[in-house]
Amino acid sequence: MSDYSINTKCVQGGYTPGNGEPRQIPIIQSTTFKYETSEAMGRLFDLEESGYFYSRLQNPTCDMVAAKIAEMEGGAAAMLTSSGQAANFFALFNICESGSHIVSSSSIYGGTFNLISVTMAKMGIEVTFVDPDCTEEELEAAFQDNTRAVFGETIANPALTVLDIEKFAKAAHAHGVPLIVDNTFPTPVNCRPIEWGADIVTHSTTKYMDGHGAAVGGAIVDSGKFDWMAHADKFPGLCTPDDSYHGITYAEKFGIGGAFITKCTAQLMRDLGCVQSPQSAFILNLGLESLHVRMPRHVENGQAVAEFLEAHDKVTKVNYSGLKSDKYYEIAQKYLPNGGCGVVSFELKGGRAAAEVFMKNLKLAAIETHVADARTCCLNPATSTHRQMNEEQLIAAGVPSGLVRMSCGLEDKKDLIADLAQALDKI
Ligand SMILES: *Cc1c(COP(=O)(O)O)cnc(C)c1O
Repeated sequence: MSDYSINTKCVQGGYTPGNGEPRQIPIIQSTTFKYETSEAMGRLFDLEESGYFYSRLQNPTCDMVAAKIAEMEGGAAAMLTSSGQAANFFALFNICESGSHIVSSSSIYGGTFNLISVTMAKMGIEVTFVDPDCTEEELEAAFQDNTRAVFGETIANPALTVLDIEKFAKAAHAHGVPLIVDNTFPTPVNCRPIEWGADIVTHSTTKYMDGHGAAVGGAIVDSGKFDWMAHADKFPGLCTPDDSYHGITYAEKFGIGGAFITKCTAQLMRDLGCVQSPQSAFILNLGLESLHVRMPRHVENGQAVAEFLEAHDKVTKVNYSGLKSDKYYEIAQKYLPNGGCGVVSFELKGGRAAAEVFMKNLKLAAIETHVADARTCCLNPATSTHRQMNEEQLIAAGVPSGLVRMSCGLEDKKDLIADLAQALDKI
């Protein structure tokens, strides 16, 4: 598959049926797998042979879909997880432990921010957050001797900042640690972070990859390029024997392209069990088959809506990296030449009160906390996700009370703009 374009990988990657086998990927709805002898199963437990024994660790349906996502991102190996949260936690925790430190962009999804700054802090893992637009010197200053990973989002949810992946990769590699990039918003159709130096890519497949708001899920892709053994002192979990697997050293036994995902499956999935169900993986695959057709339409609608809003006198500011006026336009031209995604945010004149009237009068765009599926939806963070904050805190968090986030779906852009126009008229 590796010679084919991303479009073909979306449709046919990950699964090639043999003679007389099902054309669509089979849903292997089985918790367990049968063996003729205990020795045969024992070899699987020892990781001496690959195969399936229990769906908490691996399931064939999930693995077919993971293999497709690995091909799409240009990675060496991948695994599915129960959610995007689990994907980011596993990707970080696979190489961090109590006493480790993470350098992270401050402009990331709220759930991930909380995961790193609160929950992982309780596990003894420290973090330094940096502005994604910081200088190389400022980024450099964030590293410590115990830094084990650098984290950022290609297009941040909800701030819509665009990450300078090369700048972050260069800093990470200068310190002998990998760059982990959450590529949920652009998807590999619009950006493949590994081509720009990222080592691990994560996804909330709940968003555009599924694309229909049907199944929660996540994915982790390893580029297979980071040389763990060259920095063995930093990554003992990968580079020294694992007592829970008879002394296997993952980086030796599974090599540069297999160690990360094998350890993540054999240890973290075994012990924490955040698996995706084969049913969800099947639904995710249906979404992936049309991702390359849907993403350009999300971008077309996002661009049209952003341009309409920018010209409207009741709108004071629009954030969308496809607009020439946007702070991230130049960097988006580099990393997202075909556009980013369908999510736009904008500020209304008249703050909270204007936002309330506007939201109430929308007919097509539903009020939802979700983003990135086929149906357009809107959210006013000040009255929903961020409602515990006062006006000052809202401004500090970059979500002034009149800010609306709109996720443009796959409807006709004329209808979306007409809906916006009539709701803006009511203010
Ligand atoms: C939604 C989201 C997540 C969390 O994913 P879930 O599937 O909801 O657990 C992580 N990162 C980004 C960028 C997201 O948009």
